[in-house]
Amino acid sequence: MGGPELAAWLREFARLVAANKDLLTALDAAIGDADHGTNLDRGMQAVVKVLDAEEFDTPAAVLKRTGMTLVSTVGGASGPLYGTAFLRMSTALGEEQSVDAPAFAKALRAALDGVVARGKAAPGDKTMVDALQPAVDALDAQLAAGQFLAGALQEAVRAAEQGRAATAPLVARKGRASYLGERSAGHEDPGAASVTLLLAAAATALP
Ligand code: ADP
Ligand code: MG
Ligand code: MG
Repeated sequence: MGGPELAAWLREFARLVAANKDLLTALDAAIGDADHGTNLDRGMQAVVKVLDAEEFDTPAAVLKRTGMTLVSTVGGASGPLYGTAFLRMSTALGEEQSVDAPAFAKALRAALDGVVARGKAAPGDKTMVDALQPAVDALDAQLAAGQFLAGALQEAVRAAEQGRAATAPLVARKGRASYLGERSAGHEDPGAASVTLLLAAAATALP
């Protein structure tokens, strides 16, 4: 894969975020401030504009511009977290012109580590980490077992979906939802839902 494949992934993520904007915002209305869908949609539409307008020397450059754009347009808690995720992915890819399956998995692991370093959420805190971590683990396990990237990503999506669903009964310990205490239980976490879309976009768009 190169820059164009990663750009196709980001465009597909933008499409899924737009299509699920109201759902993401409804999830955030239940346990937050009802802006996750609009925040992320604004950011990903800005990313699409950047992808349309600019040229990139490396796959890493695509992800770096994506991270920078999200940091400056999304706001809230999720802007810096998504921004960090893409910036860490970019750093992990280095100057390579081509990204193979192990390199992609390594970059996604770096994204997870960046989100955890920045947000300090542990698994079970009812955040995006609860979908991202199992997805990254599944991707690594599938590739280690000899699976091709496409199949491995399908398993990663299933793991993210399970992680997202498992956030519903949890009491939030990070972010705005934590202000609700016990009342945050009973709803899926919006960030876990959007991260699941990020994985689904990868499974659709990456070769
Ligand atoms: P805000 O809460 O500032 O309005 P958003 O609504 O865009 O921001 O994003 C909320 C999502 O951000 C949550 O659903 C959660 O998944 C994620 N989040 C919030 N705080 C953290 C954190 N410390 N670590 C990881 N994810 C977090
Ligand atoms: Mg919010
Ligand atoms: Mg907000």
